[in-house]
Amino acid sequence: MDAGLTETLLWLCKIPSPIGEEAEICTAVAERVGKVKLAGAVRRYGNSIVVPLTRGTGGPHVALVGHLDVVRTDHDAPPRIEGDKLFGPGASDMKSGLALMLDVAERGARPNVDITLVFYAREEGPFVENELGPVLDQDPELRGASIAVCLEPSDNRLQLGCAGGMRRFVGDERAARDHGDPSLHRFRGTAGFRALLHYGGACRRRRLPRGESPGVASQAAQPTAPFEERQAAP
Ligand SMILES: [Zn+2]
Repeated sequence: MDAGLTETLLWLCKIPSPIGEEAEICTAVAERVGKVKLAGAVRRYGNSIVVPLTRGTGGPHVALVGHLDVVRTDHDAPPRIEGDKLFGPGASDMKSGLALMLDVAERGARPNVDITLVFYAREEGPFVENELGPVLDQDPELRGASIAVCLEPSDNRLQLGCAGGMRRFVGDERAARDHGDPSLHRFRGTAGFRALLHYGGACRRRRLPRGESPGVASQAAQPTAPFEERQAAP
């Protein structure tokens, strides 16, 4: 890795950002990227920022996306470089991706695409707390992007739409919460996906009108409760 990129990664790792504590790194990244010549002002939503890097190229609008938070872990020493390895919380997932995003901005390379950088908070936890959804809700320009690339560590492999199948569930989860029904949004990961299948079957049996949000029809969420009880059973 080149020296500039390594230094940027070490700088990111030295700013603690366990999930839920992203304010400091969000401010630091906003200040750092704000020193670059940008196509527009940095837009902040909570502890997430949207950075319009290039505009008017005539090319597609590409969003490069990365989360600012890291999993809470214990370390025996501060972030450091030993030999050809860099050690620090989130050095791989996903401050390595954030370092690339900052590098794209600071190197001044200007490819023929309109680039937007998105640094967001609360990824390493429940979907309902993830700030990417609210950022998309509040930033209409971002919703118009041609493609978004999330720079999670993937061993140099490109994965297309790997999380797309869950999007509907996230929406239903929110709808359920907004309508005061807690019976859906406690399901996450594999349990959440299986609950969704169970829930979908229940909705079909109840013949919900086509197009109606299952989250709004909160009574239909009740069939998920027995599922959770089975999960909790020894
Ligand atoms: Zn990650």
